[in-house]
Amino acid sequence: MAPKKIAAGNWKMNGLHSALNEASALANADIASHVRVVLCPPATLLAAMNATLGAVPEQGVQLGGQTCHTARSGAHTGDISAEMLKDAGATHVIVGHSERRTDHAESDAEVKTQATTAIDAGLVAILCIGETLQEREAGKTLEILGRQLENSLPDAADFKVLVVAYEPVWAIGTGKVATLDQIAEVHGFVRGVLVGEYGAGDGAEMSILYGGSVKPDNAAAIFATENVDGALVGGASLKAADFIKIINALAAA
Ligand code: PEP
Repeated sequence: MAPKKIAAGNWKMNGLHSALNEASALANADIASHVRVVLCPPATLLAAMNATLGAVPEQGVQLGGQTCHTARSGAHTGDISAEMLKDAGATHVIVGHSERRTDHAESDAEVKTQATTAIDAGLVAILCIGETLQEREAGKTLEILGRQLENSLPDAADFKVLVVAYEPVWAIGTGKVATLDQIAEVHGFVRGVLVGEYGAGDGAEMSILYGGSVKPDNAAAIFATENVDGALVGGASLKAADFIKIINALAAA
């Protein structure tokens, strides 16, 4: 089967309870059933957003965390475990976002353990990889991404529990978007790695998302690119009206 189409919204460190009206608008929107929509709010909004989204269960907008700890529980002040996310209603969790890698010095090995812990807790891991501008300009993009994948992909996973998001660091929150050729090259490369790692069945069916300044006006072209199965959206997911346009572009692709 073709990979599942997924539109995931990453609210990052944005959103108070007053922003839940955006989640409500999304839950009440007419969204095609063949697209999976996941909203990843800050942890402080998980419970309330779960209630907001659950109020329109037939729409099926799902909830995600933005990271999880490598450990299942323990003395880690301020951190949150995969099991806690699941307990709060999450079905997904982003791991290895470049902002976590930069702000919290998360290594590939930690990201691998986070993804493994998340899957063990019953969550779908959305595992992010991406090169910096310096790495791209040095012609090292595929080498860097290959290393990130080799060191951070969980040992055991299938298409139901693992999603990869390619997010060039230089395109996140900058308004700069990778060209369609660049996206196609990287997504084709990622597909090959996934098939090598998990086999022709699961590797071909795993969703590969693009992230980096996806907006309503560029979404359709990105989604028409080979091996792009959806998007991880930051800024444009904060407003339901914009995110719905992106979701609709994915549904039509
Ligand atoms: C992100 O946060 O993963 C992201 C891609 O952000 P933006 O869409 O704002 O570039």
